[in-house]
Amino acid sequence: RRVQFEAVIGLEIHAQLSTQTKIFCGCDTAFGAAPNTQVCPVCLGFPGALPVLNARAVELAVKAALALGCEIQPTSIFARKNYFYPDLPKGYQISQYERPFALAGRVRWQTGGETHDVRITRVHMEEDAGKSLHDTPEAATGTCLDFNRAGTPLVEIVTEPDIRSGAVAADFFSRLRDVLTTIGANDGNLEEGSLRCDANVSVRPVGTTTLGTKVEIKNLNSFRFVQKAIEYEIVRQSAVVGEGGRIVQETRLWDADAGCTESMRSKEEAHDYRYFPEPDLPPLRIAAADLERWQAELPELPAALRQRLMAQYGLPAYDAGVLTQSAGLARFFEHTATAAANPKAASNWIMGELLRLLHASDGDVAALTTVTPDGLGALIRLVDGGTINGSTAKTVFETMFATGRAPDEIVKTEGLAQVSDEGAVLAIVREVIARETDAVGQYRKGKQSAIGFLTGQVMKAAKGKANPKIAGSLLARELGPPGADPKDA
Ligand code: ADP
Ligand code: ZN
Ligand code: MG
Repeated sequence: RRVQFEAVIGLEIHAQLSTQTKIFCGCDTAFGAAPNTQVCPVCLGFPGALPVLNARAVELAVKAALALGCEIQPTSIFARKNYFYPDLPKGYQISQYERPFALAGRVRWQTGGETHDVRITRVHMEEDAGKSLHDTPEAATGTCLDFNRAGTPLVEIVTEPDIRSGAVAADFFSRLRDVLTTIGANDGNLEEGSLRCDANVSVRPVGTTTLGTKVEIKNLNSFRFVQKAIEYEIVRQSAVVGEGGRIVQETRLWDADAGCTESMRSKEEAHDYRYFPEPDLPPLRIAAADLERWQAELPELPAALRQRLMAQYGLPAYDAGVLTQSAGLARFFEHTATAAANPKAASNWIMGELLRLLHASDGDVAALTTVTPDGLGALIRLVDGGTINGSTAKTVFETMFATGRAPDEIVKTEGLAQVSDEGAVLAIVREVIARETDAVGQYRKGKQSAIGFLTGQVMKAAKGKANPKIAGSLLARELGPPGADPKDA
């Protein structure tokens, strides 16, 4: 029999802190400036230039770590991580090593009725490197270097190997991004490199507890790539180990076009960073008063938001888990619930139709301009007030999503209001009974289920607009009880 493998995954996430200036100098951090226009002797690593720690970077880093449930360390130490690379002008990166400023956090969330729990090992501060340009016109005859990025403040967030699938890893990364953007620590821009994820992946036979040899996949810059790269790696490693082979510890890169990971360097080629404490910076001490203030300034975080949605709107835990996948989605829900005066219907529409159409169009609720909470609320009121039935409402919603038109206007111009006038529905019911003699005969012989077919025929004849309640009761009245075959009477 073939051995079943389970995946073990830990993530290392680099998030750029949303400061105006760099971590150790006053240079601007804005993205997109002409190369080497945001540089100075400090971030270019000139001899004798001294770093000064950016207070705002510390505040944002601490807020991020607090939001991840970490224990903030009163004292932490910056260290030099030494390696040679052309985009690293000092020949070392200032980072934190043995004594980071935050330890032992935890992120818990609910999706699809399951609870996920990922421990955070540590969060530390560091500076970013510059950028090598290989494929620009300027770099036609060789590599060019842009140091605008050098010295940009980052936090690195490291998780325990608590994740078991690519989908959960992507979900974690996406919820982490939402928390970081909600507290204003990061701009969430994956395309510009403000947020990057390295995934460590190993496999082991199901039922065993020792960790297998891990592979690190570097620089994943989209949620889909996180999921796909991990899933590819799990299949690759399971095949190697399943055939009696061994995984070599290495760094790999995701090739999005080919849909596979490729080896970048093996452990033998790994750097010896020769870490030592940074002599030009004093230990970072975080005052209790600052910590208290920053904690108090944090906005409502997903776990608290989830509890509030359940308490305030009477939502099931399942719904609250889905709606808190982003602060924007939860906000959309709250506005819709108020506009509709029907929170559960608002939740159903958002979890069902809205998320379905957003996923299909690769859209994000934050960028949605067509359907507004007021518009969806008005649609729900049209259903609750009996103006349209549920299936017509889905069609109206699709039109709203595609065009941004208002629901009452769509119902009016397309003549979609449901027919609740008894006389009109009765005429259709009688016409169907007269036409569908087979089904009517079966019903009268006792085949209860024939009424479903007949109801369907009435709705079809009414072009979907008959009030289903009225149609059902008129049909039952006209047909009499099942089994009441007039010939038997
Ligand atoms: P390294 O010394 O190579 O940096 P660490 O122990 O610091 O490794 O872990 C780095 C990341 O890799 C963490 O997110 C951790 O959870 C994850 N990790 C460690 N060991 C494994 C493993 N065997 N399989 C998967 N992930 C792992
Ligand atoms: Zn500078
Ligand atoms: Mg490590």
